[in-house]
Amino acid sequence: MHAVKLFGPGDLRLALCDAPKPQAADIVIRVESAGICGTDRHLFKGEFPCAPPVTLGHEFSGIIIARGEGVDLPLGARVACDPNCPCGRCALCRKGKVNLCANNRAIGIHEDGGFAPYAKLPAHRAHVLPPDLNPLFGAFCEPLACTLHGVDLGAPKPGERVIVLGGGVIGQMAVQLAKLAGAEVLLVTRQAAKRRLGEDLGASLTAATLPGALALWPQGADLVLECAGVPETVTGAPALCTPGGRVVVLGVLPKGTTVPIDPFDLLFREISLLYSFLNPFTQGRAAHLIASGMIQVAPLISRQIPLDDAVQAISQPPHPDDVKVLIVP
Ligand code: ZN
Repeated sequence: MHAVKLFGPGDLRLALCDAPKPQAADIVIRVESAGICGTDRHLFKGEFPCAPPVTLGHEFSGIIIARGEGVDLPLGARVACDPNCPCGRCALCRKGKVNLCANNRAIGIHEDGGFAPYAKLPAHRAHVLPPDLNPLFGAFCEPLACTLHGVDLGAPKPGERVIVLGGGVIGQMAVQLAKLAGAEVLLVTRQAAKRRLGEDLGASLTAATLPGALALWPQGADLVLECAGVPETVTGAPALCTPGGRVVVLGVLPKGTTVPIDPFDLLFREISLLYSFLNPFTQGRAAHLIASGMIQVAPLISRQIPLDDAVQAISQPPHPDDVKVLIVP
């Protein structure tokens, strides 16, 4: 089979390789859809640690076609992959901080992933999806699970005000989760089409810029969810908080990037500045939210592309109007 393999920074190719065979406790799936993530571009540019040569793709789902010994999931089941495989033995895993496991082996980052017709994963990393679900939707389980962790940390309450920074896939799912939690949501994104999408998905208000958001809510928000992953929004998020408010940063800045922060402002207004990493124990809830339709993902699909077009799509900057591009191998 052909797979989208990263051989080193800037060296991403469609490479011929063997189809995966399941070891004990593994499943092999026929990939139905795999999402291109900002992290894939960071990996391509050498801005995020990984283990090349490796097939990329950590947001994917598909149909079980082979099982190793000891697997009880049925052949033919549709499953979404939780790509993170913490060791379960280290001090952090034993404290429940599995997303911080230093021995984590992530599928699509350290192990071959889903930008291929077939992919292998440990069966305990699979989350079963309904047989009648749109086969494209499972690819959203991993990004939704990451968004859920961030929203869990920010803990929006009914009647609170939440500002979401960034109109990409994480931002659009954060809008929906904050709305589900009973909050009033303001989405900030430069792209007009993404502001309209955010309004359709539950944002009461939208703004193009951070000052524009503050003009709408001069008292600030109880919670700011940074989902853009650019220095301007990470630096500017605390100023959008009301005193006593919280910021949760979900966006990924390239390793080594530094941004100015005003510690006196954080202290004097007691702003909590929190970070959210990966998807600890949230993948099952994400699968349920997508399977039940409580979170809408169909409007987030910008394009479907074949595997042949994947290298170009990952190596080029994203189109500003794209929310999620799915590879359908
Ligand atoms: Zn561990």
